Amino acid sequence: YLQGMEARTSPTVEALREANARHKLHPMIDPKAALANPPLIVERADGVHVWDIDGKRYLDTVASLWNVNVGHNRPEIKKAIVEQLDRLAYYSTFQNTSNPPAIELSARLMKIFAPEKMKQVFFSSGGSDAVESALKISRQYWKLEGQAGRTKFISLQLGYHGVHIGGASVNGNPAFRAAYEPALPGCFQVNCPYPYRNPWNETDPARLARLCADDLERTIVYQGPDTVAAFIAEPVLGAGGVIVPHESFWPLVRAVCDKYGVLLISDEIVTGFGRIGAMCGARAWGVAPDIMAMAKGINSGYVPLGATLINERVASAFHKPEAPAALMHGYTYSGHALACAAANANLAIVEAEDLPGRALEVGGYLGERLQEFMRYPNVGDVRGKGLMAAIEFVVDRETKTPLAVPDPFIQKLVAAARQEGAIVRVQGNRLILSPPLVFSRADVDETVRILHAAIDAAGRT
Ligand code: PMP
Repeated sequence: YLQGMEARTSPTVEALREANARHKLHPMIDPKAALANPPLIVERADGVHVWDIDGKRYLDTVASLWNVNVGHNRPEIKKAIVEQLDRLAYYSTFQNTSNPPAIELSARLMKIFAPEKMKQVFFSSGGSDAVESALKISRQYWKLEGQAGRTKFISLQLGYHGVHIGGASVNGNPAFRAAYEPALPGCFQVNCPYPYRNPWNETDPARLARLCADDLERTIVYQGPDTVAAFIAEPVLGAGGVIVPHESFWPLVRAVCDKYGVLLISDEIVTGFGRIGAMCGARAWGVAPDIMAMAKGINSGYVPLGATLINERVASAFHKPEAPAALMHGYTYSGHALACAAANANLAIVEAEDLPGRALEVGGYLGERLQEFMRYPNVGDVRGKGLMAAIEFVVDRETKTPLAVPDPFIQKLVAAARQEGAIVRVQGNRLILSPPLVFSRADVDETVRILHAAIDAAGRT
């Protein structure tokens, strides 16, 4: 087949689809299902739109995977990448080498996160790497501090922290772990501040925040505080279904962590760089974590990049003059010059266009418009913060029984939205919206129009 493809300057759409089905394993899908459903082959993108290989245009209501925050095809980023490519595409940063874009990005990040008192950054290739680096740095921190027994990690049920073995072990959804057991020992999950569904049936978000913070405290005490390295959580849970905790939750968590000396890791991979209305999610909740894992919006996905930021407390353990403290951790692509150049250009846009402010403003409007969906009996809950939102489908609003997964309604909904010209994302029984932060009110209106049409077309309300 490859020969055939090489012979043609432009392979036919059919040839591409066939090669895809034959050779490509897709993330997070049964290969048989991928075979049965021809993929959407995305060929180009611009602003808030993408085009498939047949030339059909779609509104990108999910910014690809929560990450193309400045929009597609930005000339500023392309220019920065090309200029960097002319000088240096890439050189390893092992053996104490560095490169100008990585250095510039380090300084830029420290300036942006000065309020959180971040001190140093470790670069990698994506979100899972950034989480894994955060977990490993936490364990090493405690060894350097002379408390080698602090190795355990606590996280939230429904939390998502990527797919590496450490991240999968702290993931709160066992579905991401089951096929890859045994997971890392010493990882525990506590209840999630999810007002719509929680074991106490507590609908008051502030009281629920207290219950969940108490659960964290009880777990730390039960495990033994001198065995717990860190607590990791997302400021707003993304893949778990856009779960927005009460504003008191993070301050309560910070207080519990401080009481027992536990490190607080904020997984900012979705919330970093503006999505919920502040430069990082922890800032939106008025909390400074010890470690932040970042990726996605750091350069809007133009080149893969992850970053793990550590504060003075964590950094100081590695800088004790009397003790060697090699970071025995690093990736071939740590500090990749093109990825960092893209990030510098991307972050200049985020600041110049005040995208956190825009996410707050347009996100507020999105939140208002989404309330319209409560008129459908099969919609149980609508929620969000900034430009992160979810519509949760139920069989029955009284019992809150979730719509089964996979439910033909949800599949039809996605297909109908595509037909109408939008890419939407469904996770379980929830429809998730996470558009580029450059989304306009008109784009919100178009999204809402398409969703109404798609729900009508899918037929079950
Ligand atoms: N943490 C969170 C909160 C995420 O949403 C994701 C990805 N969606 C990851 C970690 C993993 O990032 P990546 O897919 O880039 O490895």
